Order: sequence, then C-alpha cells, then structure tokens
Amino acid sequence: MDIHEYQAKQLFKQNGIPVPEGYLATNPLEAEFAMRRLGTEIAVVKAQVHAGGRGKGGGVKLAKTPEEAAKLAKEMIGMTLVTHQTGPEGKKVHKVYVEAGSKIVKEYYLALVLDRETAGIGFMFSTEGGMDIEEVAEKTPEKIVYISVDPTTGLQGHHIRSICFQAKLPAAEQKELTPILKNLYKMFLKYDYAMLEINPLIINDQGKMFVLDGKMNFDDNAMYRQKDIEVMRDFLEEDPREVQASKYGLSYIGLDGNIGCLVNGAGLAMATMDITKFFGGSPANFLDVGGGANQETVTNAFKILLSDSNVKGIFVNIFGGIMRCDVIANGIVAAAKELGLRIPMVVRLEGTNVEQGKEILKNSGLDLYAASDMADGAKKIVEMVKKK
Ligand code: GDP
Ligand code: MN
Repeated sequence: MDIHEYQAKQLFKQNGIPVPEGYLATNPLEAEFAMRRLGTEIAVVKAQVHAGGRGKGGGVKLAKTPEEAAKLAKEMIGMTLVTHQTGPEGKKVHKVYVEAGSKIVKEYYLALVLDRETAGIGFMFSTEGGMDIEEVAEKTPEKIVYISVDPTTGLQGHHIRSICFQAKLPAAEQKELTPILKNLYKMFLKYDYAMLEINPLIINDQGKMFVLDGKMNFDDNAMYRQKDIEVMRDFLEEDPREVQASKYGLSYIGLDGNIGCLVNGAGLAMATMDITKFFGGSPANFLDVGGGANQETVTNAFKILLSDSNVKGIFVNIFGGIMRCDVIANGIVAAAKELGLRIPMVVRLEGTNVEQGKEILKNSGLDLYAASDMADGAKKIVEMVKKK
C-alpha cells in the first residue's frame, strides 16, 4: 500500500524526523489560507498523487504570495499530471500540499528497503539527491552507499559511521543525519514498510537537515496490524479493479491487454501470462484466486473480469490440488450463468477430480472451449480473441 506525501510527512513528524510545516488544500481558497498561515516568503504547492517525478511534470511549483498559491492550486487541482512514473494516461490531482519553502543548499537521497538477500533492512544513501536514483545507479553507481542492517543487532553506531564516511559527509551534517537514521530505522520496524524513500533530503541555508519529499510503501501482508496506516489508503489513487479484488481477498494486478486470466497460484499465473504472450496474446490482468478458492471466490473473480470492458476473452487455467476441479467447474458454471458470458472462454483444468470437472463443464451448455493442456488453451484463446 502507498500513501501520499502529506501523509508520509505527518508520520515523519510524529516520529521525530524534521519536515517543513505544511497544510493540505483541496481548493484554491484553502491553498491561499494555508500560505497565510505559514507566513513564509515562499511556499511550495505540491500535487498529491501516488507517483514520483512530479517536479518535472509540473506538479511542484513555488508561490511568492498567498494569491499565487491559490492560482497554482487552481491550475493543479483537477489536472491530469503525467510523469515518468504515472504512465502516459497520467494521474488526476485531487489535492495539493502547501508547504513552507526551503532554501536548498544540498540535496541528498536516502531510502530504507527490505533487503531480501540478507534478510535485513537496507539503507541506501547518495549525495546525488533530487535526481532519479535509477539514473544515478546506472551512470554513477559509486555515488550510492549501501549497507544492510541485521535486525537481530539493530542499527549500530558503526553502521551510521559507515554511511557517513563512505559518503564523505562533513561533521556537522553527520550530526544532523544521525538522529534521522535512528528514527527511520525505528519507524521501519514499527510500521512494516516494504520501502521508504526520501528524495531529496536537504541541508538548508541554516545548515539544518529536512525531509523534502517522502514516498512510503507498506507491506500489504502486515495491514491487519497496521490499522492507523490502513485508514490512510486513498482509493482514488488505485485501479478500481484492484480495489474490488482486494475486497474479495483476491490477488489481482491490472494490465493493459485484452485476455482475462483466472488462475490459481502465483507461479501458474505467471506461466499463464507468459504462454499467452508467447502465442501472440496480451493478458488483461494477473489474477491469482489462491489455493483455497471456492465457488464464491471464482464467481467474484469472474465479476471483476467481466466488468472490465477491455477483456475480450477469458482464459481459465486451474490446477486442482487442495482445491478440486469439480468445485472450480461448478464455480465457473454458476458465475457464467449468473453474470452472462458474451465473450469467448477457454478452460484448462488439471489435477484432483479433473474428470468430474470436465463433465460438469460439458453438461453446462455453456459455450466454452475445454483445452487439453496449457499450450492448447493459450493458443485457442489468442485465436478466438483475434477473430472477434
Ligand atoms: P517529485 O518530483 O515528485 O520527486 O517531488 P519533490 O517533492 O521531490 O520535488 C521536486 C523538486 O522540487 C525537488 O527535488 C526540489 O529540487 C524542488 N523543491 C521541492 N520543495 C522545494 C522547496 O521548498 N524549495 C525549493 N527551492 N525547491 C523545492
Ligand atoms: Mn522527490
């Protein structure tokens, strides 16, 4: 789960990490008041969308007067912001954050990530702040310092010194950075992050360090124990198909193709997408109904696929293990009858009770193609969708 910059900054503030003062605004008048309240010479008006690269896309602008802040908010709210992270369709801006302007002397990059290789918490620091870290990693990888902290020992003094020395930070800046690193480490454990990125982390004209931009991504599997974080979820920012799927407890990722895939197991789902592509098709989604799916789960999964107007055909690829093929077949038939099936469908079943499953499909009277294996199924659905 992602949250907005203004929410990330609230969390930083609550956890002892310095951020500029700022207020959220959903209309120009609020933006004007926000700047009056700040009382600063310069305010920054920042579009709140779940994507980076806003600065280059026109989503971060400086205002010299409250009236100008209102004008910028008016331009930004309602606009579709396109950045290299939003894709060409962009993201609609619903609110802006009006923040006290900072005088930037230096920009750094700092991120904490879950390091799967070492089963630790990775700290990534770079003197090349404000830039895309991917670009820095490609062109000047020596400018990125990386250390992994073992959670059984926790963040130690030597870790902090290692970051500071490798990045050649002046003593005064080391003093600023140290409490920030300590507090970020505590936050990382407390809130179950998958990733936390600050770009830029700045030194201002007073020599003070501030977080100017924060992106936070939380581990979805931990949301059950992160109720305070869960309430920050903004459904406007998410793919409606994915929101619906998560309500049903399905693992779903929307893609831009036209073949809806309904599969059990993430590995099989990946293989299904690969083989569909291999035969010249393009998947509309990744959908894993899970090992414990029942008739209701299958019906819900179908609802999502059928409500997507991009879906021109459905490829069901199920391996019955714990879940039996006859149960799945019943689910498919029930869902197709309830929702009406006006697009081609290919079903490939294998595993426990496969014969009963095939029998149920055959006797259902539904117009579907029962594939003999995965390749046959993929080839067939690609053909059928192309013909339509
Ligand atoms: P992003 O483009 O989505 O990553 O948005 P950021 O919040 O990182 O803002 C983009 C850039 O705008 C930053 O890298 C800064 O260079 C600049 N910027 C943001 N806030 C301020 C500010 O208070 N003062 C100045 N001078 N520049 C700012
Ligand atoms: Mn940024």
